[in-house]
Amino acid sequence: MAVQNPDFDVCVIGSGAGGGPVALRLAQAGFDVLVLEKGPWLKEEHFKKDEMACCRHSIFTPNLKDEQHVLEQLYADKWLGEATSESGWSFWNGNMVGGSSNLMSGYFYRLKPQDFRLKSEFGEIAGANVVDWPISYAELEPYYTMVEEEVGVSGEVQAHKFSEPRSTEQFYQAPTAEHPIVNRIDNACKELGYQALKTPRAILSKPDNGRRSCEYSGFCGSYGCASGAKGSSRAALLDRAVATGKCQIWADSQVSKLISDGSGKVVAAEYFDLEDQQKQVTAKIFVVACQAVESSRLLLNSVGEKHPQGLANNHGQVGKNLLFSAGGAGSGDLPYEMMSAESARLLQTRGPFVNRNLQDWYFIDDLEFADKPAKGGTIDFLLRHPNVLSKAKSQKWDENGKLIWGEQLQQKIKSAISAQQTLNFEVFNDWLPTDNCFVSLDKTVKDRWQQPVAKIRLGYHEHDLKVGRYLSAKAESVLQQMGAKNISWSVSGSPPSNLMAGGCRFGEQIETSVLDKDCRAHDCENLYVTDGSFMPTGGSVTYTWTIYANAFRVADKIIAAL
Ligand SMILES: Cc1cc2nc3c(=O)[nH]c(=O)nc-3n(C[C@H](O)[C@H](O)[C@H](O)COP(=O)(O)OP(=O)(O)OC[C@H]3O[C@@H](n4cnc5c(N)ncnc54)[C@H](O)[C@@H]3O)c2cc1C
Ligand code: SF4
Repeated sequence: MAVQNPDFDVCVIGSGAGGGPVALRLAQAGFDVLVLEKGPWLKEEHFKKDEMACCRHSIFTPNLKDEQHVLEQLYADKWLGEATSESGWSFWNGNMVGGSSNLMSGYFYRLKPQDFRLKSEFGEIAGANVVDWPISYAELEPYYTMVEEEVGVSGEVQAHKFSEPRSTEQFYQAPTAEHPIVNRIDNACKELGYQALKTPRAILSKPDNGRRSCEYSGFCGSYGCASGAKGSSRAALLDRAVATGKCQIWADSQVSKLISDGSGKVVAAEYFDLEDQQKQVTAKIFVVACQAVESSRLLLNSVGEKHPQGLANNHGQVGKNLLFSAGGAGSGDLPYEMMSAESARLLQTRGPFVNRNLQDWYFIDDLEFADKPAKGGTIDFLLRHPNVLSKAKSQKWDENGKLIWGEQLQQKIKSAISAQQTLNFEVFNDWLPTDNCFVSLDKTVKDRWQQPVAKIRLGYHEHDLKVGRYLSAKAESVLQQMGAKNISWSVSGSPPSNLMAGGCRFGEQIETSVLDKDCRAHDCENLYVTDGSFMPTGGSVTYTWTIYANAFRVADKIIAAL
């Protein structure tokens, strides 16, 4: 298909953290931009704190009977696949304008310079495909700084032995309000010789750019933000892109295929609209940002004359080296009966954030762990999510694992909610890329538009668990020092489906990567990928600040190419 007058200069597919920066920058530069987003266009007024709606029904993600994945797990040396319509384990995260960034908690971290050269710094790990990035921290640093202002990141710069370099002295905004429990965490860490740091958040502590500041609903993770304070791609970037008059967002538009011509260039995106009508739109440049699994799936489904194995997949790399965030999670209780009435009152405060993390073991130099320095990770502290449904649901078993009900259940729920404050922790460490974690197409299972669904092989590396256990034990020592009771934690190879990246690595070599260092496909000159798919390794933090920063960087490259 020869296209004489493309409808748009740039067509961005997917409107989350990877799509928003490209749409904003290109529209600001005067180009005609179209964003195709499979989900609806929800705004502040649609985001209610309705526990039943948000947690019992998937109102922000597709019905798994209509759109599913197939998950392959290892059972007795055999990889067996199960459709998520059977298991109920959803790998959708947030399908609406702004993507999952609407539902994130907004714990924001930069990677560190060493994360860009993991192989050179720490060497090979048998069974893992560790590589260096084709760019350095210094190349991304200006864009990390840009995100602080464009998205709105609040925090405080503190000196720390592993701090990454910054080009500005302070954060764009001062930290959000803190919960009184932080004093206890700070004291315990000090007594142990650890340095607790204030966690940056993609949350406004002051009104900015037409957005209200945080109203401390406490419902960040898994809920949309009704104040606009959370730095979602929609609230922070896309609303401004549309305001330029150069960017259109077509919601409820599920892209099923990118069509390429005889020269190998993409000429059109084929999509289904709300009425399930199949349509096409043309553009000069196409930017895929559907989140790791779905970006790989879209490329694999986009077979063309010059792309017989799927778009940009002539070296069989699309879908390979999928990443999640490795680590673990734990908790401890601080019973009110063990403290004064005033202390208990303070701990019952609702709303403000914990905002504390430990990066003392981001790099581990401990002979008991390994005979050479190794990569560690981050420990984040947080309160239990205020959604009472999940708290209540977890009380339905007695100490012997038997299901309980009636008065016994009522008493247990009452005690869980009113007798103590629970402090949780999460550990983030590298999910090493391996040959057993990848996306392919399932030949038999199709979505409701008859497109093959993504099959995700969920293999992990044992080293991830070793690091996770090391860090969880450090977090446990903090809880112990605080006098917490009922401390427990677990580390497993089960992936957190909300923190995914990889699948379309960027790199210098066409044989081992899908994208070049500008995130343009090696095999296709007018195709870019800007969601978390580009990451060859993930660092030991949550990904979104890096995804935003890289998407701003790539936007500059696209402007230069147009
Ligand atoms: C509950 C929760 C808590 C989180 N907390 C944090 C946190 O504290 N810190 C942090 O850094 N990260 C957090 N995250 C992760 C963060 O949201 C993601 O890292 C980030 O949004 C990923 O950006 P992305 O562009 O890759 O994907 P997304 O933001 O998900 O955007 C992808 C978009 O593409 C659309 N799409 C997919 N397929 C198609 C198609 N075929 N056609 C058209 N559109 C399509 C999707 O509907 C979606 O809108 C959290 C996520 C969740 C769900
Ligand atoms: S108002 Fe604040 S606490 Fe509530 S969802 Fe928004 S950012 Fe999160």
